[in-house]
Amino acid sequence: MFFFFILSIRPAEISKEIYPEINTLHSVTSKNVNFQSTDTNHMIQSDMNISNEFDAAVGNIINIIVSYDMGWSTRGNGRSYDSLNGYGAVIGFLSGKIIDFATRNRKCAFCDYGNNKENHDCRKNFEGSAKAMEPSVGVELMTQSTVLKEIGLNARVLIGDEDSSTIAAVRRESLQSIFKLCDSNHLKKNFFSNLYQLKKQFKEMAKKDTIPYLKKCFSYAVAQNRGKSSELANILRSIPEHVFVRHENCGNWCGNYRNTRNNKPQEVLLTDPKLYNKLREIFFKYAANASKFSIAASSQANESLNNIMAHKAPKNKCYSRSASSDYRFASAVCNKNEGDSHIMNIKEKLCLSPGRYTKSFVAKKDEIRAKRAVIARLPVTKKQRNVLRRNKEALRK
Ligand SMILES: [Zn+2]
Ligand SMILES: [Zn+2]
Repeated sequence: MFFFFILSIRPAEISKEIYPEINTLHSVTSKNVNFQSTDTNHMIQSDMNISNEFDAAVGNIINIIVSYDMGWSTRGNGRSYDSLNGYGAVIGFLSGKIIDFATRNRKCAFCDYGNNKENHDCRKNFEGSAKAMEPSVGVELMTQSTVLKEIGLNARVLIGDEDSSTIAAVRRESLQSIFKLCDSNHLKKNFFSNLYQLKKQFKEMAKKDTIPYLKKCFSYAVAQNRGKSSELANILRSIPEHVFVRHENCGNWCGNYRNTRNNKPQEVLLTDPKLYNKLREIFFKYAANASKFSIAASSQANESLNNIMAHKAPKNKCYSRSASSDYRFASAVCNKNEGDSHIMNIKEKLCLSPGRYTKSFVAKKDEIRAKRAVIARLPVTKKQRNVLRRNKEALRK
């Protein structure tokens, strides 16, 4: 049931605001569960009522959660380099499908050679810095998307990276309040880079095991406290003390706290008091933001789209001065939503007969994609990782 899913991952104030139907759905299903009757006719009638009520409540849902991210055509995120173009897409959080996409191009080779803008397929549509593309595309997709308008849906929750310029711009332009959730992968990456910065100042941080151990502590805490922000905050605050061998505030996750580690010494011990203060600062900062980590919000789908795009338009070549890059992104979008079978649909639309091997090629690719999707849905435990690896190797053959 998808709304149980919503209830479990959303902070309550967001789910109340964007899913007012949630209470109806909840009461309908609990009726369904508690319903016990021996009269068959009565039972069928009630079942029908319940399913009608349920369908009506689901039909009333018009607010959706989307993830948004932007990719650039040069290495280094466009934040450090000046990319000539950028491409962004909003992806439905529950469906994983791309809802709408847009691109920004700052240069056109034909215009630069002195051609008139009218006599070629000019894609130049942006003046400004590469960084300003992200909010510009974000506003277009979140507030002016024709796809969303046509089907009558509102994107009310945006999952994105920590960059605040996009959400600020979207909130300025939108008539409704828009909620923001941070992608937990981006938050984690920022935390790790904070640790690596300490490496230059402190010898103990440069030791081989220190940073991996701190990363491990952090990742375990996050993985084991999904949806429990106060517990997560407590654990994050106790980690700096733990690595400095003070276990009074450690919880059950710590072997020394449980007194079960009599023979085995702790893996990493730190002693520098200055380092303690720095680590404490970092961990307390992230503990204060624990509610952001405890939600399973992720813009993983956008990252996978950007990876597909990197295959279609390799970053060491320049496609961004003509229409080529736009076509490549559109192709990446089709690939993400429909798999390689989109090639057949395009040929049909253009009234072209498919090449000799296209059909079999597409069928094979789609089969691999379906198998991969099944594997990706399996829960990953240590044992299964081996099975996964073997399956992946078999797929490659
Ligand atoms: Zn042009
Ligand atoms: Zn401890």
